[in-house]
Amino acid sequence: MNPAHSKDIRVLKSLGWILLILVLIVTICFCAKIRREERLKPGAKWVAKGKPTPSTCPVCGVETTSGAADRRPIAIMIENLVSIRPQIGLDKACVIFEALTEGGITRLLAVYVHEDAEEIGPVRSARPYYVALARGFNAIYAHCGGSKRGMEAIKQWGICDLDQFAYPKAYWRVRGIKAPHNLFTSTSRIRETAERVGFAKGVGYRGFKFKSEAPLKNHPQSQNIVINFSSQAYKVEYHYHKDSNSYLRFNGGRSHIDRETKNQLQPKNVVILYCPTGMYDPQCLNIQIIGSGSCLVFRDGTVVRGTWEKAEPGTQLVIEDEQGVEIPLNRGQTWVEIVKPDTPVGVRPPQAS
Ligand SMILES: [Zn+2]
Repeated sequence: MNPAHSKDIRVLKSLGWILLILVLIVTICFCAKIRREERLKPGAKWVAKGKPTPSTCPVCGVETTSGAADRRPIAIMIENLVSIRPQIGLDKACVIFEALTEGGITRLLAVYVHEDAEEIGPVRSARPYYVALARGFNAIYAHCGGSKRGMEAIKQWGICDLDQFAYPKAYWRVRGIKAPHNLFTSTSRIRETAERVGFAKGVGYRGFKFKSEAPLKNHPQSQNIVINFSSQAYKVEYHYHKDSNSYLRFNGGRSHIDRETKNQLQPKNVVILYCPTGMYDPQCLNIQIIGSGSCLVFRDGTVVRGTWEKAEPGTQLVIEDEQGVEIPLNRGQTWVEIVKPDTPVGVRPPQAS
């Protein structure tokens, strides 16, 4: 072969390799840039292939988009007086806490992350233990005023607060329903107001641990839970439904339904927290949600005994089994029932001792 021709081929080969390496470097840099931009936008959807990135809601474990899973939790105080039931929008919450307020009535704290609700309420006032639970999720807190201790807790613990008295446009009142039971809101109203105020959209918090559901052949025929908070009107029951592997909720002896859909509330998990309870003063309960205690976790028609712990307002509630391992929940809505250590909780069939 002509030496000059051979040299030309070697030069061409070298140029080819250099060109290939340059193309590879440009491709890697371009991909890294897209990923970096994606990370910098909390809640942004992955749009490179026109599809949102699948993700898991940290609070209820449901498969959703990263845009929905990365949203900041919203925690809303909801009334549970027997005369105002059924409420609206509870079925869209990821987790709902129920606890006594005063005079034997209960109130609810509903936490929303991945799902939107066009109407939620009636919205009522704050108490310190709900404020602590909301702070544990780094949530935007929606309520209408509060007890003296509740309002102090909001200031002291640095809550991103959307009190109706300060932000009336985040709520509306419904004609034909007597005040104060006529106050309602929506996830979009709360998120829009939070954005206008300048609260961060994406925040860090722990979330819960999840597992796969037990297979149908392992579901027991029945499991009933009865919680006697105070009077018959506030008695709570959950009846396990084998086929759906969930717990149908009853309150005051009636199916607890959603006002709009008429569907019965049907969580996948029910957690009982035994919580030391005293009085700040004759008008205000002191439910000690900062601390630890025993708990029962119901899912798959079975019960797991364990302990709960919440070290401080800014840390989330954690539930662990008797070996100190976090108890995983089934994916879907969870109701957490906060009861006094001596509150009667009945389970049928009886729990194994
Ligand atoms: Zn969720």
